[in-house]
Amino acid sequence: MKQMQHMKTQDKIKVKNTIVEIDGDEMTRIMWKMVKEKLLLPYLDMDLDYYDLGLKYRDETNDKVTVDAANAIKKHGVGVKCATITPNKDRIKEYNLKEEWKSPNATLRAALDGTVFRAPILVKNILPGVRNWTKPIIIGRHAYGDVYKNQEIRVPGPGKGELVFTPSDGGQPIRCTIHEFKGPGILQGIHNTDKSIGSFAKACFTFALDQKVNLWFSTKDTISKTYDARFRQIFQNEYEKNWKTKFEKAGIEYFYTLIDDAVARIMKAEGGLLWAVKNYDGDVMSDMLGSAYGSLAMMTSVLVSPEGFFEYEAAHGTVQKHYYKYLKGEKTSSNPMALIFAWSGCLRKRGELDKTPEVVDFAKKLEDASLETIESGIMTGDLLRVATPSPKNKQVYTEEFVDAIAKNLQKKM
Ligand code: NAP
Ligand code: MG
Repeated sequence: MKQMQHMKTQDKIKVKNTIVEIDGDEMTRIMWKMVKEKLLLPYLDMDLDYYDLGLKYRDETNDKVTVDAANAIKKHGVGVKCATITPNKDRIKEYNLKEEWKSPNATLRAALDGTVFRAPILVKNILPGVRNWTKPIIIGRHAYGDVYKNQEIRVPGPGKGELVFTPSDGGQPIRCTIHEFKGPGILQGIHNTDKSIGSFAKACFTFALDQKVNLWFSTKDTISKTYDARFRQIFQNEYEKNWKTKFEKAGIEYFYTLIDDAVARIMKAEGGLLWAVKNYDGDVMSDMLGSAYGSLAMMTSVLVSPEGFFEYEAAHGTVQKHYYKYLKGEKTSSNPMALIFAWSGCLRKRGELDKTPEVVDFAKKLEDASLETIESGIMTGDLLRVATPSPKNKQVYTEEFVDAIAKNLQKKM
């Protein structure tokens, strides 16, 4: 890699407090290093608390490093994470693992009790599938319970399907009949907790205020008069108790509507809002939005905890197929945009918390330099396929793309 001309340390922008840096796997690990060396380290004097979540080191430490990384975010408040492999049977063989370690993101989410927000990166020459979506629609997905933690029964024949709750204090069980089966069928039981819904609500209000965007929340409480209604109540109580005044001051609003009404309205909206949704709605709607906005590599993700800790990352994985090409010595046209925006998001947040406007300003310059690069027609293969008009230039390799951004960034410094 060509060495950048580094400024002297005393001339660099000082990031006041520590950032937790979480390294990862495969092609994103390669791009991570490139982004750091070419776009960040030449300009920033940062104190990075580094955790290597590359699969090899997770295995060596029996995954302790993931727990350490989560604790570091709790200590310092802001972290940035590269994509990581979630091991499966193939990976156990490939990396000769001691165990099938848990998904690092699941571990981090559980430790920080966080909610994941996903937002698209918009550029002028990639038109959204829905033409009025000119501003980002951010999805806040509740990542606990419902159908993702269910129990199901294949009902073999006639009989009674019941819902039973048995109190731990020895009190009377509560039961109700779900259905009197006359023949074969299916049964499902799902749950959620006030605590988890409350954390979700807090995280959504925190994020909407942080981004200064309206918050929409939608469920089906006209049909689900206890279950979905509880979500609505918890959001409403949280809003009135802790956020109403802050929202009014910031000039943003909290808006509840039915999920089907929200879907209809979203199609006509221009964006620039946070849409909070239950687990299943979030699973489905985030994929729809991701594809409508162009490419997986143009989707950022941030984990926000109810205590106000922030962890930024790309929404995509480690881009395994590109990595295998890279290992064979081939150059790839992998897109580092979401990784760059994970860094800029984390730097902006660090700067806001530290009250260092020069760091916030650098984050903006980094984003602008990246967006302008794509808008000038220099882009990776994934974007070239969806750009309008399709640029005359051919796709560039990752390193050429990062170099082009570095050149634009240099001009702004
Ligand atoms: P992926 O890394 O998201 O990539 C899937 C496909 O999407 C790629 O093959 C590529 O398509 C395209 N793509 C994604 N990111 C791209 C980028 N930055 N630039 C260009 N194209 C991009 O998913 P995967 O290959 O199925 O998963 C690989 C590993 O990632 C798995 O081990 C999984 O556990 C892990 N994962 C981690 C996270 C995380 O840490 N947050 C999230 C998801 C998955 P083409 O091949 O057509 O070019
Ligand atoms: Mg999905």
